Amino acid sequence: MPHENGYPLPNELSIAQASDRLNCGECSAVELTQACLDRIASTEPQLKAFITVFAQNALQQAQESDLRIKAGKRLGVLDGIPLAIKDVILIAGDLATGASKILANYVSVYDATVIKKLRAAGGVFLGKTNCDEFAMGASTENSAFQKTANPWDTTRVPGGSSGGSAAAVAADQCIAALGSDTGGSIRQPAAFCGIVGLKPTYGRVSRYGLMPMAASHNQIAPLGKTVEDVKILFEAIAGHDPKDAVTVQKEISNLKSARNASHSDAGGSQISNLRGTRVGVPREYFIEGMDAEIEKSVRAAIDQLKDLGAEIKPISLPHTKYGLAVYYIIVPSEVSADVARYDGIRYGYSVENDREYLAQHPSFSLLDVYRDSRGRGFGPEVRRRIMIGTYALSAGYYDAYYAKAQKVRTLIRQDFINAFQEVDCIAAPTTPTPAFPIGEKSNDPLQMYLADVFTVTLNVAGVPGLVVPCGFTKNKLPIGLQLVGNYFDEGRLLQIGSAYEQATEWHLRKPLI
Ligand code: GLN
Repeated sequence: MPHENGYPLPNELSIAQASDRLNCGECSAVELTQACLDRIASTEPQLKAFITVFAQNALQQAQESDLRIKAGKRLGVLDGIPLAIKDVILIAGDLATGASKILANYVSVYDATVIKKLRAAGGVFLGKTNCDEFAMGASTENSAFQKTANPWDTTRVPGGSSGGSAAAVAADQCIAALGSDTGGSIRQPAAFCGIVGLKPTYGRVSRYGLMPMAASHNQIAPLGKTVEDVKILFEAIAGHDPKDAVTVQKEISNLKSARNASHSDAGGSQISNLRGTRVGVPREYFIEGMDAEIEKSVRAAIDQLKDLGAEIKPISLPHTKYGLAVYYIIVPSEVSADVARYDGIRYGYSVENDREYLAQHPSFSLLDVYRDSRGRGFGPEVRRRIMIGTYALSAGYYDAYYAKAQKVRTLIRQDFINAFQEVDCIAAPTTPTPAFPIGEKSNDPLQMYLADVFTVTLNVAGVPGLVVPCGFTKNKLPIGLQLVGNYFDEGRLLQIGSAYEQATEWHLRKPLI
């Protein structure tokens, strides 16, 4: 990692640090943005984290920030901060591919609500990051365009589906990023890349302008270098939106500055930070077959929470074992409807415009257009989910699969409701293994699905989850602690995560790329 005189380069800063520098004129937004663009240029050949980089637009946005800063009219902590955006989120006028061939040339006609909010806050958009096609996957290998590498070991995956955003943050190509989480797509890449990620409560953040993937599960979510950064982005994007009917008008409670919460209260000791906080440890999340180094690090992190004053309580989430089965019935069912819009007629790839196809097919029917546009436009994982989902929803199987899964979903939700009668937060591993080698699971969908074992139940239930770095394997691969919060209690999660972060140094390590 190149350092000038031992000081971090601008692109290596957190949002909070960069914001301080912008405020005192130590650094301009253009310098900050240029530092990120330089880092992107030097590391992209290895990482392939971005699908599109908007160098000119980003520099222009940064110039506008600098003008505001000079005029004493800085819009707030995000003004002038360079961000990366997962390519399933729409930015008006820019390419938005969803990492799918079917949208390879699609240009967004409007801003997603989260983009509108970040734009109004002065955020600078560096580009769109790679992901699994329409966010379906756990390794970013399902992208139609490229495989992103993990900055800690470029032979390994960064996780998925928000792997491009996570790799970009971990490698300091950007200051922070947005991704989305339907079953772990923020938390698993955060764990694999050694950064922080927060999946908000279902209904907290508007999905208007997010390419759909299982609307009863997904949330747009922040990835950052510190808990405070994730909190800043979360606050900026959260809130009711009439354009997403499930968003709620609810205050974010317990949201005193994560920075203040983590530094000891004036004169007090850090030990008192978590006094009165009850942390549950679910026995179902420490299972046979999980990686021994992960178990050790997560248990050590729980001991650390205890040292910080938390009361540790063993708990049970008895229906956890059905989580994956429920998720992989309901999500493909929803997906099969979500992707119906990509039909080769309305927008996106169509065989009608594909010269090669036209040469091979002198005549074809409307049905051919639907079938062949979708057949050629979607990758194998999307097609697999359409088939599983359509099957689970079909007459005769609906009751046995979809309806049954929905009933078990209620039991899983009830497990969390019961647990939060006794505890304020739940501590668990994020993943059963550290980042796995590129190619290891890509031909084995079941193995890929099993990688989601500790993350999917949060989406099935709708509760929030925060991942913070909690250790490294012998091979220097990051490990993430997953903290689960009660509905709409992200504030408390962020406080607990911040107290842990301040007591440890895992988040300060940087990959060597
Ligand atoms: N790996 C999970 C899946 O493939 C989660 C994806 C996500 O959160 N978008 O469904």
